[in-house]
Amino acid sequence: MSGTRSVIVVGGGPVGLTTALMLGRAGTRVTLFEQGDILHQEPRATTIHAATLDQLDELGVYSRIEPLGIICPTMRYWDRATGELIAEFDHAVLAAETSHPWVLQCEQNKLSRVLFEMTAAFPSIEVHNGAKVVACAQTADRVDVRARLSNGTEQAYSAEYLVGADGARSTVREQFGIPFRRSGWAAYCSQAMPPTSITRWEQWA
Ligand SMILES: Cc1cc2nc3c(=O)[nH]c(=O)nc-3n(C[C@H](O)[C@H](O)[C@H](O)COP(=O)(O)OP(=O)(O)OC[C@H]3O[C@@H](n4cnc5c(N)ncnc54)[C@H](O)[C@@H]3O)c2cc1C
Repeated sequence: MSGTRSVIVVGGGPVGLTTALMLGRAGTRVTLFEQGDILHQEPRATTIHAATLDQLDELGVYSRIEPLGIICPTMRYWDRATGELIAEFDHAVLAAETSHPWVLQCEQNKLSRVLFEMTAAFPSIEVHNGAKVVACAQTADRVDVRARLSNGTEQAYSAEYLVGADGARSTVREQFGIPFRRSGWAAYCSQAMPPTSITRWEQWA
């Protein structure tokens, strides 16, 4: 890898792809590894909130995902057992804080596809789909990783920096002995209604 700055990104979820796009736009050389398939068809996370929409807009992503999603100015929470409305959040109250006072219901696989397509426009971003990082080590001025590529071979890569965007069961955290700090929040369970024909997003607690 050559160039003024180089970064390895481990993980091709929304965080890893967005990081790669931001770095690529800044002229940084990026090598991204995703062990699965970036173009998977699982919807996963579906609600994109205002602050994230603002950030995605700065990157030119918002205009591409808006037609793929549903703009929901309000969100409602219902008690599943009684059918009682618990709370309604009207994002209009955020109008002074954000250019997007709504949530966009847009499934994660659609966002990932757009981000992936946009990274392709930057020759400085190299994406290895189906490549698992199996080992990481660092010295004072560089990070080395070994990756098992989609053809089954293992290869060594190095860069000045490494971003661990490899999710909840992070290889990067494990390799560097970084603990996973869990919050003390109580766990709540909610079921999201699929946004097929609705214009407001509703959740049942
Ligand atoms: C099956 C599933 C269903 C989900 N459903 C919902 C939902 O309904 N609603 C909701 O709000 N959220 C859901 N989530 C959670 C949501 O997807 C995450 O909060 C969100 O994706 C986090 O983004 P991220 O980029 O940080 O991590 P992720 O999207 O998890 O991305 C991390 C990526 O790193 C890759 N990776 C991991 N280890 C390595 C390695 N060693 N080498 C290379 N790549 C590696 C993983 O394959 C993964 O693609 C779901 C997650 C999963 C897995």
